Amino acid sequence: MEMHKGLLKFMCRLCGGKASERNLTEKYKFKKDVFKAFSIDFANDSSDIHPPSMCDCCRLKISRWNKLKARKPLNIALWSNFVAHGDSCMVCQEQQWSGDTIIKFCRSRELHTWSNRHGRVVAITTDDDGRCILKRLEICPDDKSISIEVLGHPVDHSISTVEGAVSYIFSLNICIGIPDFPSIAEENIRDGIKNRETALGTAAGSK
Ligand SMILES: [Zn+2]
Ligand SMILES: [Zn+2]
Repeated sequence: MEMHKGLLKFMCRLCGGKASERNLTEKYKFKKDVFKAFSIDFANDSSDIHPPSMCDCCRLKISRWNKLKARKPLNIALWSNFVAHGDSCMVCQEQQWSGDTIIKFCRSRELHTWSNRHGRVVAITTDDDGRCILKRLEICPDDKSISIEVLGHPVDHSISTVEGAVSYIFSLNICIGIPDFPSIAEENIRDGIKNRETALGTAAGSK
């Protein structure tokens, strides 16, 4: 749902096209014209379902249409697939697998995120020192595959959406499904302490 709303922000309320922020205008500015042309009343829109903006292309068509004093029908192909978010939501199905969208979404959830050289998006959480990767999410936009690791161990899952994967890794308890968790944890803690001690030692030594 969070991703759904994020995607709506960059879509056109009329044609359903994708656009960047600078190519979008608040739809309410054209409230009257849109009602005159299509009998669509934005007052009935829901922020969970309908985009808040309109793209430059539709905006220009509206102003041209206005100049013609509305003698011809307004030539915009309305996108009519704005429905409440669900498993078959077209907004998410069509757009959630774009690399940019995935990166933006993971970063909005404060995951360290980058795109690797295979075009896959990698998002991680680390320990407080940023030295050890705790959870790792790898999403391949091409084949829509998602792999999840906790402390380097693959986790079995049946997640099929980007938003689902991100929520899932936040919900994962760090020791679930890892038989050798105690030794890994001990190693990580020991290394963490060792690193901290080294850092403290350096700091003390430099005084
Ligand atoms: Zn448009
Ligand atoms: Zn959706």
